[in-house]
Amino acid sequence: MGRLLKIRNPRTGVNDYEIEAQDAADVATTAARLRANQRQWRDGGLAYRAEILRRWADAADARGDAIAEALILDTGRATLSRSEAHGVGAKIRRWCNDAPALMETRESTSKIAPAVAFRQQLVPYDLVGVISPWNFPLSLALIDALPALVAGCAVMIKPSEVTPRFMAPLAESIAAVPELAGVLALIPGDGATGAAVISEADMVCFTGSVPTGRKVAEAAAKRFIPAFLELGGKDPAIVLSGADLERAADAILRQGLVNSGQVCLSLERVYAQADIFEAFVDILIEKARAITPNLESLEAGHLGPIISAPQADIIEAQLRDAYAKGAIARLGGEIIRKGGNWLGPTILTNVDHGMEIMREETFGPVIPVMPFKDEDEAVVLANDTVFGLSAAVFAKDTAAALAVASRIDAGGVSVNDAGLQSMTTEAEKNSFKYSGLGGSRMGGAGLMRFFRKKALMIQNGAPRTMSAFAERPVQAGGQTHDENL
Ligand code: NAD
Repeated sequence: MGRLLKIRNPRTGVNDYEIEAQDAADVATTAARLRANQRQWRDGGLAYRAEILRRWADAADARGDAIAEALILDTGRATLSRSEAHGVGAKIRRWCNDAPALMETRESTSKIAPAVAFRQQLVPYDLVGVISPWNFPLSLALIDALPALVAGCAVMIKPSEVTPRFMAPLAESIAAVPELAGVLALIPGDGATGAAVISEADMVCFTGSVPTGRKVAEAAAKRFIPAFLELGGKDPAIVLSGADLERAADAILRQGLVNSGQVCLSLERVYAQADIFEAFVDILIEKARAITPNLESLEAGHLGPIISAPQADIIEAQLRDAYAKGAIARLGGEIIRKGGNWLGPTILTNVDHGMEIMREETFGPVIPVMPFKDEDEAVVLANDTVFGLSAAVFAKDTAAALAVASRIDAGGVSVNDAGLQSMTTEAEKNSFKYSGLGGSRMGGAGLMRFFRKKALMIQNGAPRTMSAFAERPVQAGGQTHDENL
């Protein structure tokens, strides 16, 4: 029997659930089973896989309510849990629909050696390990797994031990489609289990924190397997004079507060131009007053609890550091500890880059606002970070916003809104700096990451013979040169 892990309920603070963590031997057994089934999954072809995956989409949709109920217990918030749970089928179908065009390859002729034709064969990695965090437990467990399965890989998913309840109803949906159950496994466990998954996989997709991401990258490097890392952020928003302040405030509040700020691309720093700074902060506070924690009931309020107990301590420590250095909480600012931990919308001013709250990932509903004098200063402040996930720019018109957006070192920059990459998943983007490593998870590249490209080359002319390489005297006019060598 594996190690029993006690699981805390984020609304009550009580450990009311447990899972049995798989150890290295369990993971190795599962990996061997998946590998044995992967050849048929791969060689059956895309149409075969899509037919099976569409059956899974139906099975997951049919269990949407059960998955949502488990996710609500995992996270303490209801609306987002329902949207995560009921979105699974649509995501599976979207990848199945998009894949044929993305995977199309055709024969080409070499321009350098016109007698040679070639075609690219797409060979999926055999076994992909997916390791995911607790902030969107279901969506982030599946975001890499779905395209990997479409590509023809077998997949092991190791979700976060903080939010594992959703695994049981999701596993039922997988078991309802036996061909899929042969190549997809959910692996319960903690960091040690995650490390075992990396030891067995041919490729790893990791979503989580920078410190764990570093361990994952090191473990993958030792095994010479690719690691795709999607890590933390400290996303800035810039509000320039002339911007529609109501619109900017609505977008910034949504992107700073949704899921109680427990979003990798949460807006965690706001820079407002000096001449509109006070007016903007007033609008932000006024609007934020209407946003409340769901502390009393799952049927009212907007902000769920801080899901992980240690995260509440990190947020509190950052707030204490900020207050000690002169920050002022214009709204909210104190964690409410009632079994679970809640924080109402927190707007801070008098902040600067000497404070942890402006430098470290907060992962809470905290919006610090700082003034700047001109565009150059705004760009310097926005780029003064080790992270580079995403950003937002608000200006009087698109051209003015784009001029600033193009100077920000981040993978996705929204103009006159925020967090647009979670809505426009077609746009490809890389994570800059410590926010990640590897090809784009978004757009068509999100599928193509799971293939190795193989070149099949056909000689339609006569093969060259060794006579081309015979030693010979230097001819008048210089050395001979063969660009095909
Ligand atoms: P975490 O790094 O603590 O854990 C993530 C996962 O890694 C968990 O499943 C955990 O069990 C596993 N793990 C821990 N140690 C491991 C090891 N040595 N080897 C293999 N796996 C190991 O992250 P978290 O606290 O669950 O999630 C929050 C973090 O995730 C934040 O930093 C957030 O910004 C980031 N995140 C990033 C994105 C993105 O797309 N960039 C999305 C969501 C969350």
